[in-house]
Parts: sequence; C-alpha cells; structure tokens
Amino acid sequence: MDKIKQKIQELRDLINQHNHYYYDLDKNIISDIEYDELLIELVRLENNYPQFKDENSPTNRVGGGLSEKFDSESHVYPMYSLDNTYSSEELEAWYNRVVKNIGITDFEFCCELKYDGASVNLLYDEGKLVRGLTRGDGSNGDNITKNLKTISSIPIKLKESFKKNKFEIRGEIIIHLDSFAQLNKKRKDNGEQPFMNPRNTASGSIKMLDSNEVARRPLECFLYSIVSDDIAIEDHSELLNVAREMGFNVPNYERVVNSIQGVKEYIKYWEINRKTLPFEIDGVVIKINKIDYQNQLGFTSKFPRWAISYKYKAENLATRLKSISFNVGRTGAITPVANLEPVLISGSTVKRASLHSYDQMLKLKLRVNDFVLVEKGGEIIPKITGIDEERRGSSEDEIIFPEICPECNSKLEKLESEANYFCTNYIDCRPQAIGRIQHFVSRKAMNIDGLGDETIRLFYDLGFLRDIADIYNLNYDEISKIEGYGEKSAKNLKKGIEESKLNSFQKVLFGIGIRYVGESASKKIIKHVDSIDKLAHMDIESLSSIDEIGDKTAKSIVDFFSDINNIQIINKLKSFGLNFYQKDNDNHSAKLNGKIFVISGVFESHSRDEIKNIIELNGGKVSSSVSKKTNYLVAGNNIGPSKLNTANELGVSIINEVNLIDLIS
Ligand code: AMP
Ligand code: ZN
Repeated sequence: MDKIKQKIQELRDLINQHNHYYYDLDKNIISDIEYDELLIELVRLENNYPQFKDENSPTNRVGGGLSEKFDSESHVYPMYSLDNTYSSEELEAWYNRVVKNIGITDFEFCCELKYDGASVNLLYDEGKLVRGLTRGDGSNGDNITKNLKTISSIPIKLKESFKKNKFEIRGEIIIHLDSFAQLNKKRKDNGEQPFMNPRNTASGSIKMLDSNEVARRPLECFLYSIVSDDIAIEDHSELLNVAREMGFNVPNYERVVNSIQGVKEYIKYWEINRKTLPFEIDGVVIKINKIDYQNQLGFTSKFPRWAISYKYKAENLATRLKSISFNVGRTGAITPVANLEPVLISGSTVKRASLHSYDQMLKLKLRVNDFVLVEKGGEIIPKITGIDEERRGSSEDEIIFPEICPECNSKLEKLESEANYFCTNYIDCRPQAIGRIQHFVSRKAMNIDGLGDETIRLFYDLGFLRDIADIYNLNYDEISKIEGYGEKSAKNLKKGIEESKLNSFQKVLFGIGIRYVGESASKKIIKHVDSIDKLAHMDIESLSSIDEIGDKTAKSIVDFFSDINNIQIINKLKSFGLNFYQKDNDNHSAKLNGKIFVISGVFESHSRDEIKNIIELNGGKVSSSVSKKTNYLVAGNNIGPSKLNTANELGVSIINEVNLIDLIS
C-alpha cells in the first residue's frame, strides 16, 4: 500500500513540476502524449485507491480535461520576427541599407515600444473576431481563440462602420506590473508558488487549456500592426490610429520622426525612462512609416527589412560560481555550464549560465567561488560575460577542463577550427547516441509523435534503441509491457513510426544528422543530388560547388560516408523502406525558370510555404508585391482586392493552385 501511495505522490510531484514548466516558464519538457500518460496513470491510481484522493492533486486542477492540443492553423500573412540591434552602429547599418534600397533619404520612421509579452495574431472579418493564433513558427500558430476571447481589451465585435474590412491585427499579450504584483500576492496567500515574471506568465496563460482559468489572469492585449489588402492607408502611424478608432488598445507611446537622429533620441529617452512605465519592455521597434516603402523593402526569410528592434542591454549582475558541469551534446561537443548561487535578474531567478565554449572558459580562468558577471540577454540561457576581479576564488580552485568525456570516459579531441572539445566516441557515447535519435524524430526531420525525449532516453537505457535504424525494428509487445506504457500508446507509436516512412528524401537527409547539414543545407543538396548513393560518392570539390555548401560541410559529408557504421545504418534504413532518393513527383524542374510569382490568399491543398517551395523547386522566383515584372499571381481564397486589382491593371495572369500544378506537370 505504501508503495502505491508513494507512486501517487511521485506522479503528482512530476505533473506539478511539468505544469510549472509549461504554464509558468512556458517550457515544454515532455511531449503532450507523455504528459497525458502520466496524468492517465495518476487518474487510474486515484480511482482505484480512493483513500489517497486529495483535492490538491493536479488531476483536480486541470478540471479532468486531458491536454487536448490546440489546432494549428496558418496565418493569412506570415508573422515574421524582428532583426535585433544593440548599438548605434548596427542601427546606422540598417538605416544605410534602407536608404540604398529605396533610393531616398527623406522618409519618416515610426518609433514604438517593444512590449515584452507573447505575440498573437487576430483575424477579423465582417466586424467579428474570427480567430486568434499564437505566432507559432511564423507560418502556423496555435488556435487560442477561446482563451483570447476572455481578454476584455480584445473586442469580439467591431463598430458598424468597420464591418466591411477583413484584416489581421497583431499584438502582444502582456500583464501590467501592478496586476502582476497583485496576482502573486494572491498566490502567496493561497499557498501557491508565485510566478516568475509577467512575460512568462502571459505567454503561459494564453496556452492554458482551461479558459476559465485564463479569464482569471489579468491579461491585456496591446496592438501594434494591421495587415490587410483591404484597408488602403499610406502610413503605419495612421494604421495605428485606425486600430484605435476600431476600439483596440494601442498604447500612446509611438512617435513619428523624420531622421535617424530623431530615432536615436527616442531610443535614448526610453532607455532612461523605461523604469517609469507600468509594463515591461525589452527595447523599442523602429519602422519605416510609409507602407509603400515597406512594400518596396519587403522581407528576408526571417525579418521585414522595413523594421528593426533596438534591444536595451540586459541587466548584468555578479554572483558566486559554485561549480562547473560539463555537458555532452548531440555532436559530442563538451560545453561548460556554470552552476551559480541563485540570483534575481530582470525578474527571474538564474541558477545556471552557459559558458559557450572551452575557449571562453580558458579566457576567463575561472575558479570556484569567483564572482562572475551574469547577463540575461535575448537568449533563454543567461551567459557569463566576465569576472569581478576584486572577488576571486583561491587559485588552487581553478577549474580544469576534463581530459576525458564525462559521460563515457573516451578521449576528447579539439580541432583548431572549433571552439570546443569533442568526445571521439561517436557511436556509444550515451548523450550523443540519444541526441542523434532525438534529432531524427524531431518535428522538422521525421516528425514522429510518441517518441518524446524522455521515452527515447528510457528506450535507450532499456536497450530497445541504440541507433536511428532501431526505431523501425522495435518490439511493440515488449514496449506495451513497460509500466505506464500500455497497448494503446504502443499502437500509436507504431502508427507514427510507420507513417514516418513516407517522409521525403530531404527530411531523411536532414534527420540522419550529418554535421552541418541542417534543414537549409539539406534542401540545397537535394536540388543537385537526387540520391543518397550519389551523395555518398561525391568528393569535397564537387560538394562545395553546390550553392551554400562550404568546405567545412563538404568535408563533414565525406567523413560521414567514410564511416562504415553510418553506411550500415543507412542500409538498414533502406531495407525498412525510407526514402533515399528524390522521387520524380516531388522533383525539381526548370519549367518555371525566369518566372516571377506573387502568392496571396489561403489555399485549399497547400500551405503558402508549400506553394512557395513548389515554385522555387521548379526554378521560379517568389516576390512579395505585384509589379510589371510579375508573371503570375497565385490566388487563394480571401485574396485582398488590391493585389487583384493591380494584377488586372498590369495584365498579370491570375492562377489558382491547380493551375500552378498544371504549369509544372
Ligand atoms: P522577436 O521576438 O525578438 O523576433 O521580436 C518580434 C516580436 O516583438 C513580435 O513578434 C512582437 O511580438 C513583439 N513586439 C512587441 N512590440 C512590438 C511592436 N511595437 N512592433 C512590432 N513587434 C512588437
Ligand atoms: Zn562521450
């Protein structure tokens, strides 16, 4: 009986811990399936042993609802992130690029605060809030409409006069500092853990499953941009005013200035005065005010060229270094991680910081008990930037880099070109082997649900999984016997694994984890090399002649294929039916060479990214606005009238997705 009680307590602790990570820290440490498994097991035990029921159990908190995922939907217009600058030199470099691009110096900037919260994208049509998505990966976000409807500063219906417009409006969900303090006071009074900071609480709150709980959080929505083909307005600052008229909450801090000097003054002013604001910002955003110029400048693959953020230097604090652990990553790189005396920086407690590399550690000559300067910048993991020379530990305690791998005791190796030492035991070093499997099943590679990080670790330790080929040779009878696993999850796992065999050559190539062959390199490679066998026989010279493949990557590819173990794994994967050649139907062609396309609207059978891919794989180019040079406008549903009109005026052919496929087949 005691055992059962203990098991129940363990499960409660574990689930509470994951709830804390998920809701408060906005971190997903285990997959939803794994989380549900824990919860199901706890519900089952609590039902079978009612004597151990407890109203504080996490099974009561989530209202019995298991974590059903939010639906992922595509944004009508992609949500880009912002390029960051930290200095006036970087700012000027951006300004010079803009001037060069649009060819004049006489234009306006709209300077705004960069609200520190969670971004959302609201779609309105015929005066009604249709849906609200998180930013997600920029193309697709989670549909959290239900939760957003609980936020009073998000209008559900607009005034009559705005009924005709269809638009996306982007904003940031934030919590005011005083509301945050009140919320935490209430939590403390109730014996609950206080939240870390407003930003994480806001982003955790909008992703909660229980909308009633969301309604109790003091969330607000600040709006900062409208995207629409429907609203003809010339300046961004005017759009902000329209948003205000519509009833949105657009804070009044923006300033329109007409010189880079004016921009710098705005930056300086808020650097000094940001502490007086009733909410948190992490910088300011500078946008080119005229929409026409914005369109001319367009986007890189990640950022608009017409906007940039200026981030304020992070707070920098000294704390005592307790020890250094040496982590072994997927590639075998050994990275030093500092364990610190906990310190509160920008609202959150920091206990660990990264040192990035051996080289950096050497430079700092760290000793135990040193006071190190810790900075929390844009990155999630804080970093050590220096030492307080006045307060050093004793010289005997200088931290020495290990000579052998802390995980497998193998020899370490450092190449001149690298900042890190690497464990040479490629095959059997546990974190490397596990990391390769985790990478292989990850979303952008084989995307196998049901094989979360924890499960992979467990299967590795049980000897079920040693390399990526073992994934296709699992014994599901054995798996269903693992405690807490069950037949159903074994079945789901099998289904996910079988389905993954249909993935394209590109996904497989990315998944097998050749060093430096990331997602983008793998896409480039398949354009030139249509099978793994051809790739395996190429030399450094021919590999480096491929676009974007440098010497380092080329050498890494050659090294990979000269290792007999890799060849054996690939042969096994082939025998399981994975795709190692580029099939004709997803092949590239030159059919669209020299043709320029503009994509607009929402499509039925493809995402906008897929349409773009199809065009590019077949030699076409995609641009963001319709001009005389455009050959085709690929029009989906809900396409805005202005693009259609321009295309009609200029005599650009307007085609749909079916016509596009016809063009290349
Ligand atoms: P980053 O997350 O660093 O790529 O910065 C982009 C994010 O900044 C956007 O997704 C918004 O959520 C956020 N943001 C906050 N305030 C603004 C603003 N005034 N204009 C544009 N983006 C903003
Ligand atoms: Zn090792």
